[in-house]
Amino acid sequence: MTVRVRFAPSPTGYLHIGGARTALYNWLFARKHGGRFILRIEDTDQKRTVRGAIEAIMDGLRWLGLDWDEGPDVGGPYGPYIQSQRAALYREWADWLLAHGHAYKCFCTADELKARRAAQKAARGDQGYDRRCRALTAEEIAAREGLGLSYAVRFKAPLEGATVIPDVIRGDIIVPNAQIADAVLLKSDGLPTYHLANVVDDHFMAISHILRADEWISSAPLHINLYAAFGWDHPIYAHLPLVLNPSGKGKLSKRTQAFDDGGREVLVKVEEFRDAGYLPQALTNFLANVGWAFGDDREQFPIAEAIPRFRLEDVNPAPTRLPYEKLEWLNGQWIQDMTPLELAQAVKPFLDRQGYEIGAEALLAVASSLRVRLKKLTDAADFLKFLWDDGGTAAPAADRLGHAKLPGDAARRGLQAARQYVADAQPFDADTLAAGLTAIGEAHTSTGKAGPFLGVLRLAVTQQDVSPPVFESIVALGRERALARLDTAIALIEE
Ligand code: GLU
Repeated sequence: MTVRVRFAPSPTGYLHIGGARTALYNWLFARKHGGRFILRIEDTDQKRTVRGAIEAIMDGLRWLGLDWDEGPDVGGPYGPYIQSQRAALYREWADWLLAHGHAYKCFCTADELKARRAAQKAARGDQGYDRRCRALTAEEIAAREGLGLSYAVRFKAPLEGATVIPDVIRGDIIVPNAQIADAVLLKSDGLPTYHLANVVDDHFMAISHILRADEWISSAPLHINLYAAFGWDHPIYAHLPLVLNPSGKGKLSKRTQAFDDGGREVLVKVEEFRDAGYLPQALTNFLANVGWAFGDDREQFPIAEAIPRFRLEDVNPAPTRLPYEKLEWLNGQWIQDMTPLELAQAVKPFLDRQGYEIGAEALLAVASSLRVRLKKLTDAADFLKFLWDDGGTAAPAADRLGHAKLPGDAARRGLQAARQYVADAQPFDADTLAAGLTAIGEAHTSTGKAGPFLGVLRLAVTQQDVSPPVFESIVALGRERALARLDTAIALIEE
């Protein structure tokens, strides 16, 4: 069997983190089996469709590295891949169901339905559509059509028995047919509902497996009965585990924007993660761990290495919370694995966005020490502000330029010696600075240990409590700027 799977988002605005997990698992499955990964846009609900959403979804998938083989932009043998461009096909198959007695015309208006539903609810709970039009005679239908009344097409769901949904992850799910409503397939405006379009497309796009979120299980019995009515085989189902909020309370899929979950800000859009300084390789790695495990107790892995190991049978059906603290940790790991050049290039746009114009060379000078300190690319701005801000506004308070083991005068003399050394150091690199400045530090503290002095020196040149190590910071600043800051610090102590 050729594996053909699809990610079928509705274009409601952006790529949701839960949607990204669904897309990732489809992608892994397709790549593992040498199959095709298809992107299909389900925009049957025009009221919910947002302009620019298709682009936003594609941007998110591209950023994550989840490339698709067929889709709205790249085309493919089963296109078009946007449902609003396939309306004629859905009409044709709705008519086919009518002609073959599997569907009926429903003339009930929205107001009538609403009133009857309210009454029904009051009496014995919501049972869905009361099937009134299912009983219309040929004459009654003709009379209504003669009056020019519009109608929806409804499915004739089986009234007795049960429907079995074989699910690779969950085993058989059995649903009594009494629970399956006569769903609308074609609305009175002639446009399909999700159910009809989804089933027709999966069939005509030759989809082999449906990997989708758990919330669609409730639609599966209807879909299976639709396939049966059409006389088509249904694809193999695999409903992925529900994703819960990080606190474990509530469904994450219900969230449409960043929110506070017990004191922690929780992001939901893939673009929010990108803007918050997460790396795509950390995010795919993280999502792969949500409901599936790599094995060998390995939590960090490149997604390409997950491909040969990925098996639907190994996906855990239990609802699972999104452990965002794990994402932070993973992101830090992935940052550590970058080369200094990669990291310098990655943080540049974030610094630019903050208005910190820091040159490529300066960034490179501090990149290796940044690697072990950053959890997110956005953290770089706090560390590196000193490279940009020469205003002197951040000059440390004079009393902080001392240390218990370093009396004020020793600090001044040490900084003066350091100034001299920095002015003359050749070559001007971290190793040369380390050798000379450490020796100066040892000579100026009461204990003979350089530590306290280097702390003061770091504060003097970076003017920040947290920064990269002192020698790299001096190199990144450049000789002139480092000297100017040492002068400021010396003057402060002298005051
Ligand atoms: N359009 C549905 C969604 O937004 C797709 C559900 C399915 O995969 O069948 O998730």
